[in-house]
Amino acid sequence: MPSFNDQEGDNVPDGLPAVIDAHVHIFPFKIFSAIQKWFDENAWQIRYRMKTSQIFDFLLSHGIKHIIALQYAHKPGIAQQLNRYMAEKCKEHSDQVTGMATVFPGEDNADKILQKAFDEGLKGLKLHAHVQCFDMNANEMDCLYECCRVNDNPIIMHIGREPKSTAYSCDPYTLCSAEKLERVVKNFPDLKICVPHLGFDEVSVYQKLIEKYDNLWLDTTMVLTDYFPMAEKIDLSHYRSDRIMYGSDFPNIPYAWDRELKALKAAGLSDDALEKICHKNAADLFGI
Ligand SMILES: [Zn+2]
Repeated sequence: MPSFNDQEGDNVPDGLPAVIDAHVHIFPFKIFSAIQKWFDENAWQIRYRMKTSQIFDFLLSHGIKHIIALQYAHKPGIAQQLNRYMAEKCKEHSDQVTGMATVFPGEDNADKILQKAFDEGLKGLKLHAHVQCFDMNANEMDCLYECCRVNDNPIIMHIGREPKSTAYSCDPYTLCSAEKLERVVKNFPDLKICVPHLGFDEVSVYQKLIEKYDNLWLDTTMVLTDYFPMAEKIDLSHYRSDRIMYGSDFPNIPYAWDRELKALKAAGLSDDALEKICHKNAADLFGI
């Protein structure tokens, strides 16, 4: 996939309300380096090659008001260490960064690892089906859904089928579908679920699902930027605006940090919808 050297602004584009970035990745340096290498070889050249503290400083100094920080364990046995790292980094920016926990689905004591992370101050769970190769309808998932539900913490699950890569050890098209997600939404009506990338590649199905269910949110991450070839153009003004959140995927992006914000500004949304998408929905969902 291509990388762009498009011009970047020094600040959140004029005319946008306060912005919470609901989808930012951090990792300890060694893991980050490995992820960057993976992206370079299998997806796209990452434009922002930064350490965690630089990531937070960059976004906050460019006018982002609050960051939701995410990690994912790519194998069993490392989640506790990652969660400790996340909790420490959040404490350094306590008012401006909210951290999500990670766990490897199916690993020993997965729910205990998750509960401990919540006890240490993390405010939700992030999972990534392409990297972690879990089946969202498998029995081993129930204890994680239940733990999030009981703690009233949301779960962010990358279970859309794109962007897929043959370099993953599982095929997202076999593992993931909106139909399977709907089963989780129905079985756990009190569980707050967020699906990134507007559910790409089943965008129109997810658009209907948020109309139908009150416990499902979507984030915009990367899909407003005209970067991926999409079957249909996304018109956010036709979405249920109280269920959409802005997210960037910073720093793992191949274009300017504010590219998606510019697209959001140009999307023809009402002031009310823009406020919800830029910050209100995330503030409500993550208790900011
Ligand atoms: Zn992401």
